[in-house]
Amino acid sequence: MVETQIVGRGIVDDRVLNAVRKVPRHLFIEEAFRGRSYGDHALPLGEGQTISQPYMVALMSEALCLSGSEKVLEIGTGSGYQTAILAELAARVLSIERISRLVSKARNILDLLHYENVMLRVADGTYGWKEEGPFDAILVAAGSPQIPVPLIEQLRVGGRMIIPVGEKGSQILQKVVKEENKILTTPLVPCIFVPLLGAYGWKLEHRLQA
Ligand code: SAH
Repeated sequence: MVETQIVGRGIVDDRVLNAVRKVPRHLFIEEAFRGRSYGDHALPLGEGQTISQPYMVALMSEALCLSGSEKVLEIGTGSGYQTAILAELAARVLSIERISRLVSKARNILDLLHYENVMLRVADGTYGWKEEGPFDAILVAAGSPQIPVPLIEQLRVGGRMIIPVGEKGSQILQKVVKEENKILTTPLVPCIFVPLLGAYGWKLEHRLQA
């Protein structure tokens, strides 16, 4: 998987490549899809959500330019696979997921693999995690109509954020770098992520009960 899908597409950061080699992706995949764990695609992870394609995980991780000392915020824990990769690359990872059942599952696997530098929380991640900020890096693993303002506020000056921005069915992965008085945004690749649902993302649809 690493040679053809990831090195072959231009990922060069050795720390990222080692993390992807080390983390057992199949443990984060639902049993029904386990045989396809290392395939070149996203997979369903339950609750209508998807675990990203291995290449996308590597690309986002590399773009955060982590050296090992950072405090990272992740929005959209999902299966916890990307969380584990970040835990290999940074000092601390704080990850927020809005679906509590996914957080319980992710916590079990991350504990099993002894990731003691990870904290998970069930909440609307578009508000960020103010008490723990500012963060050196922020990774948003769901597509948003815009960059949530609280996340920009909680990024430290010099910090990097990766976030898919666009429509519900297609986005552009954006790299955001915070400078003293401005933010610099660079488009990386087109992508398709599940929607970021929340106060600063896509609004939840409230259905009227009959
Ligand atoms: N990186 C994950 C995949 C994430 S899929 C992995 O490796 O498995 C995106 C996740 O974002 C979904 O689980 C979805 O429930 C979650 N999500 C969507 N909106 C959110 C929000 N506002 N706050 C926190 N999590 C959110």
